[in-house]
Parts: sequence; structure tokens; C-alpha cells
Amino acid sequence: MNAAVTLPKDLLTQLNDLLGEDRVKTDTDSLVHWGKDYTKHFDPNPSVVVFPSTTEQVQCIVKLANEFNIAITPSGGRTGLSAGAVASNGEIVVSMDKMNQILDFYPADRMVRIQSGVVTEQLQTYAQQHDMYYPVDFASAGSSQMGGNISTNAGGIKVIRYGMTRNWVLGLTVVTGKGDILHLNKGMMKNATGYALQHLFIGAEGTLGLITEAEIKLERAPQDLQVMVLGVPDFDAVMPLLHAFQSKIDLTAFEFFGELAMQKVLDHGHVQRPFDTECPFYVLLEFEAPYEPIMDKAMEVFEHCMEEGWVLDGVMSQSLEQVESLWRLREDISESITPFTPYKNDISVLITHVPAFIKDIEAIVADNYPDFEICWFGHIGDGNLHLNILKPESLSKDEFFEKCQVVNKHVFDTVKKYNGSISAEHGVGMTKKPYLEYTKSAEEIAYMKALKQVFDPNKIMNPGKLFD
Ligand SMILES: Cc1cc2nc3c(=O)[nH]c(=O)nc-3n(C[C@H](O)[C@H](O)[C@H](O)COP(=O)(O)OP(=O)(O)OC[C@H]3O[C@@H](n4cnc5c(N)ncnc54)[C@H](O)[C@@H]3O)c2cc1C
Repeated sequence: MNAAVTLPKDLLTQLNDLLGEDRVKTDTDSLVHWGKDYTKHFDPNPSVVVFPSTTEQVQCIVKLANEFNIAITPSGGRTGLSAGAVASNGEIVVSMDKMNQILDFYPADRMVRIQSGVVTEQLQTYAQQHDMYYPVDFASAGSSQMGGNISTNAGGIKVIRYGMTRNWVLGLTVVTGKGDILHLNKGMMKNATGYALQHLFIGAEGTLGLITEAEIKLERAPQDLQVMVLGVPDFDAVMPLLHAFQSKIDLTAFEFFGELAMQKVLDHGHVQRPFDTECPFYVLLEFEAPYEPIMDKAMEVFEHCMEEGWVLDGVMSQSLEQVESLWRLREDISESITPFTPYKNDISVLITHVPAFIKDIEAIVADNYPDFEICWFGHIGDGNLHLNILKPESLSKDEFFEKCQVVNKHVFDTVKKYNGSISAEHGVGMTKKPYLEYTKSAEEIAYMKALKQVFDPNKIMNPGKLFD
């Protein structure tokens, strides 16, 4: 941690009066713990961490921040992968940990009203207990919060069927950077009254204000999910495979990963290779099969893909336990590669361009950085690839990240060539900030900055994230 930043005494007193001393923390351990997310690029250095429990308390904190001209970093579950929740410059960290209540359930509307600190898995479990389903899901769902998911427009493993977090937000209560409380859309399905401001806060990474409550739509629970893991000979086989399955059955997931990712997960020790054949790439697909004819169709497509040479080997789940263990092959990748200090990229291009894009990137890395290992995985069914470069043992962390900055330039040039995005679902934060113009035009960025000025004229909301 850098040199501590001292908070004006008056401000500290007022925060203590507002929240109580146990909800205002300035000890080093707390500053480090709540001052960072899952990334390791920037050192945390906030001046205080506060834990409000109501929208009105959040409003008072924002008003104080404006009065004392001190920045705020909103903090959710701190699982973010772009340093969006890292407070490195004396900020007030506003943690949503104590705003974790599910407030109302509206069965007829299939909707819940929640505080934004509700953990994603908490909502999933609540939905399940009420015979419903919240479909946005990913490996960090046990820690990430709904406010963080909304602020990054999180995606995950079910986007092919259910879409991103944005699709599930029916309303938001926010405190703007100016300190106003806005109740946006109030949970309505239909509301044609001009600008839908709630959508501006979705994916805004806390730069316009703080989300304190949300109305979230729920779905009927899927029935009899089946999972197949298929080994494929090369990347060119993946797209016809996707097309073959999608033209016959509705997929709920279509994920892919390379053999290196498989090896790291197996080395991690919790699961076994699904079949003996070692393949360059693997696809995990999931679908609902409540009726026998759907299973028959899936087997028909599988056999067709084998005949075409798109699949080398495969396995189909036979039980709920097997569904879960097959999913772990994909879900455990992030955790298994963490010890190798991966340099993470989260990019998207049109599904049509994915094979050519992957070939371009592999050629760039092979030509320029032959000692780098690339661990590919991703939500390929929606054009989203996670490119993880693993640190060779011979390089220090700093040397490695420096070289990766150079690779980044090549990667993002290629993203631009294919009209893709430098961040499909993790957000821009600080790690992708220098590359925003590879995806957004100068005119778009100027409009974004103008909007920020409206909601946050004193620039107190999460400065240094998204753009300067
Ligand atoms: C193992 C692993 C797997 C992952 N897999 C996926 C995946 O498949 N798909 C995916 O999309 N992401 C994935 N992520 C990334 C991460 O979990 C998501 O970005 C998640 O949405 C972050 O939520 P959080 O509560 O942890 O947010 P944080 O990290 O705390 O914050 C994220 C951003 O939101 C802002 N913020 C947080 N709360 C609020 C609020 N109430 N109001 C305003 N701004 C707020 C923060 O300032 C920050 O800019 C993964 C992460 C890990 C560690």
C-alpha cells in the first residue's frame, strides 16, 4: 500500500455520526481488503471504507464527498477483473456489503426488489426456493454482488439463451454523483416515456452514481438439463458444431476451452478427464431435455458431427452429479490458472469472425512471444473469448506485465480490425482504459463524457475508471 491518505477530521466525524463507528473503517487491513478487486495490477490506497445500509445514508455520503471534494469508489463483491473497484488514490470506498436484503417478491410480475449488495448466488437460491430462476451465472457468483453485476453488465455462461444482466433489470434506485435519488423505471415491463436512464447505469462501472436497489426479473426454472463435453480436432470445427446443434435444439450454454486449460484444471485436482482422447479444443454444451425426442435429436446431431469429423470424442451427462462435474471442467479454469499470474483479456467479435480472429492472435503471439503459453477459453456461443497469457517462470511479474502491454496493442489492433470489443463482459475499469478508443469512436467517448458531467459534475464518482 502507498503512503496513507489522511481524511479531513470533520468528514470522519460526520461519517461516524451518520453510520456509527463500527461502519467506518480506517485500519490498514480494512483499507487493503475493501480497497481492491480480483486484479493485482494496482495497489489499493483508499482513505476510509464505509458500510451504509440505506439509500438515504448513501445519499448523505455522496453529499459529504461533494462538500469535501473527495472521490468515491463503489465496492461490491470485489470479484471484478478490470480494477473498476480498486481505490488507489485516497478515495472513500462505499461498500455495499450491508445492503444485502431481498426486499419484495412479486410472483405475478415474476420479479424481486433487492438491495444492490445482494450476492448473485443469494438471489439464485432465493429464486430457486420460490420455484423460479435467476439465469445470469458465472464462477464468481458466490461472492459477486448484484450491484457489481449491474455496473459491469455481467454476462457469464448462459448468455446464449438468457442474455446479459441488462436483460434482467426492470428498475434501479440510484444516488447520482450529484447526490440525487432517482427511482428509474420502477420495475415496469412497459414504459414508453422517453429516455430509459436505468440503462445508462447498467455497465457504467460506478462512474455516474451508486446503485442502491434494483428490480430484477426472474424466469421459470429450466428442466432436466443435460451437458455434453465434446473434443474437437481444431478450431475450424467449432463453428459448424455450434450451427449443427443450434439448428436443432435450444442451447442454454455453449462454452469452449483448449487442452492447456483442461490440463490446468486436471492438475488442480478436483475433476477427471471426461474421456481418454486428448484433443486440441473442447466444447461444453448444455440444453434442456424434459422430453425423449429432444435427447434423440441431440444424439442425432452428435452422430452427424462425428461423421463430419468435427468431433473426435465426447461424453453426455447421465445424472445431476455428472452435469455438475462436467461443468467444473469449464468453471474451474479461472481458479486453476490463477497461480500462473495470467494476463487476462476478455474480448468479443461477431461469432462469424471468431475462427479467423483466433488464428490471427495465435500467429501474433507465436511470432513475437514464443515462450508465452496461451490459455483460451470462453463463451464462444456469444463471440466472447477469454485470452489468458500465462507468465513464464523466467520472467518477474513486472517484466511479464510490461511485455503483455505490447501484446495488448497487437491484440486490440486485431479486435479493431474485426470491429470487436476490448471488453465483452468484465468492464473497462483501469486495466482497459488506455484502449477504449479501439472499440468506441472519439465522438462516442465525447458523448459519454458529456453524460458523466450531467450526473457527476464534480467528478467524484470512481474517477480514473473507464476514461480520464
Ligand atoms: C473466477 C471468476 C470468474 C468470473 N467469470 C465471469 C463471467 O463469466 N462473466 C462476467 O461477466 N464476469 C465474470 N467475472 C468478473 C466479475 O465477477 C464480474 O465483473 C462481476 O459482475 C463483478 O461484481 P462484483 O460485485 O464483484 O463487483 P466489484 O468488483 O466490486 O465492482 C465492479 C464494478 O462495479 C462498480 N460497483 C460495484 N457495486 C456498485 C454499486 N452498487 N453501484 C455502482 N457501482 C458499483 C465498482 O466500482 C466497479 O467499477 C469473474 C470473476 C472471477 C474472479
